[in-house]
Amino acid sequence: MNRARPVEIIGGGLAGLSLGLALRRRGVPVVLHERGAYPRHRVCGEFIRGLPPATIVELELAPVLAAARPHRHIAWFWRDENLRTQRLSAPAFAISRHTLDATLAENFQRAGGELHTASRIDPLAAEGRVLAHGRPTDPRSPWLGLKLHVRGLPLACGLEMHLGEHAYVGLCELPDGAVNICGLFRRRELTRPAPELLGAYLEAAGLTTLATRLAAATPVEGSHAAMAGLLFGRHASIAPSLGDALGMIPPFTGNGMAIAFESARLAADPLAAWAHGEGNWPAALGELQRRLARRFRTRLSAATACHPFLLRPEPQRWVARAARHHALPLAALTRLLS
Ligand SMILES: Cc1cc2nc3c(=O)[nH]c(=O)nc-3n(C[C@H](O)[C@H](O)[C@H](O)COP(=O)(O)OP(=O)(O)OC[C@H]3O[C@@H](n4cnc5c(N)ncnc54)[C@H](O)[C@@H]3O)c2cc1C
Repeated sequence: MNRARPVEIIGGGLAGLSLGLALRRRGVPVVLHERGAYPRHRVCGEFIRGLPPATIVELELAPVLAAARPHRHIAWFWRDENLRTQRLSAPAFAISRHTLDATLAENFQRAGGELHTASRIDPLAAEGRVLAHGRPTDPRSPWLGLKLHVRGLPLACGLEMHLGEHAYVGLCELPDGAVNICGLFRRRELTRPAPELLGAYLEAAGLTTLATRLAAATPVEGSHAAMAGLLFGRHASIAPSLGDALGMIPPFTGNGMAIAFESARLAADPLAAWAHGEGNWPAALGELQRRLARRFRTRLSAATACHPFLLRPEPQRWVARAARHHALPLAALTRLLS
């Protein structure tokens, strides 16, 4: 029997690792290049919303998600005011990326995948190559992501979302009892040592109560992470691109990780068919692009259109007013955005 053609994956985040695992289960040789190492902290709110049950089953994610903490409620705040607590129709899974990525990397290697860490590859198109190298950045973008784990910070419920001036911040209770605080901020001229920078940004965004709560908590050493120059929306590419490399959904949706997993699930069959000698690379690529566009185009456009309402002071006032009068269609928006 002919050996299957190998697939090369650039990027060992959620999309790259879960695709690698799915291809190994289909008997495909996989070489994956990750520029970093495991475990590592990442800028991420660390709660997964809108992950379809079919994706959990097909990617065999149940054992990985068994280590996650399910949350059913999100408390929404505008500045210091608790606007509303939303009950989610399905639980969001809270899990540290420090744990999640390392577990997937271990599973990938155990399944026979060839993993090269500290291996940075130019994300250029090539036959048999899949791009899963994550969020694109542009130094001209004003958006900065900051995250930190802390202990001793009680929450109103499992998840909190705070809207500030040109900023929003998610808090999420993790399985080990620590709280992840992760925010998206418009960059300002603030210079502080890394763990204190988040507090300074909260103050500058008018989130003073949250800054005080953070100051009273204990940071988990080494857990801070920062990322500048973030870009949102769909990106054009001539290579098969998954997860954030395909398009970055604004983080307030808590849906970026679900998209990374879903895109890997949608990619696995066309890529495995090519690897086993069915058809050529352009045909596999065409099928893959069609599947991804059908699944994610509307979601990415809708979330990108909603994004300014959560960041700019005037639209935020409108959102706050609507939330106070229970006139915000949160359930419908959640369906549209996941
Ligand atoms: C502020 C913020 C908060 C967020 N909060 C949430 C949330 O609460 N819930 C949620 O679901 N999503 C959230 N997200 C989005 C989520 O983090 C991403 O959607 C998700 O990580 C995408 O997974 P990925 O595999 O596509 O990319 P990544 O997880 O970014 O993985 C890409 C990998 O590729 C590697 N890489 C990059 N370039 C190269 C190269 N040239 N060669 C080799 N390797 C390379 C990187 O080191 C990285 O490991 C948030 C994002 C931000 C910015």
